[in-house]
Amino acid sequence: MKDAPPARGPTGRVVFVGAGPGAADLVTLRGARWLAQADVVLADALADPSLRELAPQARWIDVGKRGFRHATGQAAIDALLVGLAHEHAVVVRLKGGDPSVFGRLEEELRALAAHGIPSEVVPGVTAALAAAAATRRPLTRRGRGRSVSLSTAMTREGTLVAGRTADTEVFYMAGRQLAVLGRRLLAAGWAADTPVCVVSRAGWPDQLASDHTPATLAEAGLLHAGRPTVVAVGAGAAAVARATPGPAMTLMLAQRQSSARAAAA
Ligand code: SAH
Repeated sequence: MKDAPPARGPTGRVVFVGAGPGAADLVTLRGARWLAQADVVLADALADPSLRELAPQARWIDVGKRGFRHATGQAAIDALLVGLAHEHAVVVRLKGGDPSVFGRLEEELRALAAHGIPSEVVPGVTAALAAAAATRRPLTRRGRGRSVSLSTAMTREGTLVAGRTADTEVFYMAGRQLAVLGRRLLAAGWAADTPVCVVSRAGWPDQLASDHTPATLAEAGLLHAGRPTVVAVGAGAAAVARATPGPAMTLMLAQRQSSARAAAA
């Protein structure tokens, strides 16, 4: 029988594994070990097929959830997790980035605890860190960048809020409303020339990054359209040096040169 009767106790455990920002080689060794042992993997929309290769014996269930496009409702995922833990020894719940950052982990942990199901969390590389690495822009800076905030720009109601709570703010889930975000940043007291760095698909071979200010943030919309995007604002968004261009830097340099040409014209 597939559906476990309520009286039956759980047989397995659920391990939340942070997959990192996408590319499979950014998952932790511990996460990869759990994937190798998994009987079943419940995965968010993660495009890298090589992650699947890390769990060769597992049944793989894609719950394809990204941003506000809820293909599978949260309650359905909670129930599925509980059901699977009654049937399998090791259930891996694979989440993009780090499970503890905008990953709805709270709801899922609660659902498991309510059914007495043991769980464990394996951290992952969150998008803000992947973006900092991609652009070689340290999130903290001696003296000037003493605090970092990870914020979602979107409220539950779907409105956009942005404040100034740290020397560097990294906004998640704002990719579709960059123009509004720029205005909100100015309203929150960020100077018009504050460095703002937009990075999409950080950690992937096709990652893109571009430089802006709150006043010009709207211009980033087209470039990063349809891609998971984070926006870093403040001390940690400033370029450290015009170092040897890496994949993400090429574009930044190109943009800087074109804005310099525009300014000179
Ligand atoms: N738990 C995830 C965040 C999930 S919320 C983490 O720790 O990274 C989804 C948001 O994360 C997206 O809207 C986007 O803002 C950000 N994001 C996820 N992957 C990304 C990537 N590879 N590059 C840039 N932003 C990313």
